[in-house]
Amino acid sequence: MSATTAPHGRPLTTTAIVAEPLRRRIERCTPARPGGYLKVGTSNPRRRAARPSERAVSPKRAANVSVALLSMDSSIHEGCDSHDGGVTDGGWAILPDVDPIDGTTAAPDLNPAQQAVLDQLGATADERPEFAADLRHHLRAALETAVEPHLDGLPAGEDLFVHKHRLAQVHGCEAKFLADEVEEFEWRVPTARGSIVHKAVELAVNWRLEVEPPVLVDEALARYESDQGGLGHWLRGCSEVERAELRSESLDAFTKYMECWPPLKPAWRPVTESRLRAELCGGRLILAGKVDLTLGRATGQRAGKVIVDLKTGSSLPVHREDLRFYALIETLRIGVPPRLLASYYLDQAHFVPEEVTEETLMASVARLSDGVGRLVELLHGGSTPNRIPGPPCRWCPLYDTCDEGQAHRSAFDDPA
Ligand code: SF4
Repeated sequence: MSATTAPHGRPLTTTAIVAEPLRRRIERCTPARPGGYLKVGTSNPRRRAARPSERAVSPKRAANVSVALLSMDSSIHEGCDSHDGGVTDGGWAILPDVDPIDGTTAAPDLNPAQQAVLDQLGATADERPEFAADLRHHLRAALETAVEPHLDGLPAGEDLFVHKHRLAQVHGCEAKFLADEVEEFEWRVPTARGSIVHKAVELAVNWRLEVEPPVLVDEALARYESDQGGLGHWLRGCSEVERAELRSESLDAFTKYMECWPPLKPAWRPVTESRLRAELCGGRLILAGKVDLTLGRATGQRAGKVIVDLKTGSSLPVHREDLRFYALIETLRIGVPPRLLASYYLDQAHFVPEEVTEETLMASVARLSDGVGRLVELLHGGSTPNRIPGPPCRWCPLYDTCDEGQAHRSAFDDPA
């Protein structure tokens, strides 16, 4: 201590380092695919140690996972933020080692089914089509012109409500459609299962703990049991056997979903059971739907949303028509179609995508206007319903008195 500083001097103190500074991983957004280790120099020793053989013999696989993740984000999380909540700067993503949302330290290891879903969902900016600004008005005008003459058959003061199930039914066996129309809707295990699984998916997106399917299914059941809606009322009154079956089937479907889908990041804007609605012809025609899962969003006139229906059981052509119906409502609603429609079959881990084009939408307009015509004729015009035997005969209320249905089943379901 000098003579100058002695009267005012302070004892020397040092500041101890009590925590490691935040380490960051720097990764290019647009890496060259061939060659090179994207993960070289990763600062996560556990990840480095966990898969040495893969890093050594298959550098391209690591590159592919990373490219898919980034392209997924560029598809459904547009803008400047990186997919892990970091920031981008001139094509470089600066990613924190620890994800601020879920606490993971690296991109998750995806199994082949999850990787296949991610590959299907991802799209670069070039793969996201732009649609004309007047598309919504064009579709509305085409649809209203086609259905107006049919709606003239509605009784005064009545409107027509169309959802995907009603539209599919009127394009199938019309006699069954009319029989189902007069039956009051009843909740049952198969119809309740979808709501429980979708609620579990919704909870999983925002769950901060490790996702354990039985826990989330129980939480979903509990949420609905305390709900005042129809499903809540049914759950509170159903038998213990029905509740056990519902839990078991929901758990099976939700576990398969968790096995087959990559974890959905909040930044991808996942929404479950999203309701869609469009009113036409002064409110006389109402189109409505509820989508299982949506991801992403449109920006300007550029498509970005993916609409997904999660399915148990086998694939049917009507599933594609259902999704096209949703795409039409979405376009009438916001003016930009979804980028991709997809049915996902959980039992098979099978993804069936369809890109949306103007032709797709016009096909949906034609199917809808035909359906509206038959709905009005059957419900209000006294038209004789046709009978089209097929798999639905099995659960048709008219089966016991329907010769066509019984002949079909004896020929195809119970061949001698
Ligand atoms: S049994 Fe089959 S053919 Fe007969 S009304 Fe029902 S669905 Fe139609």
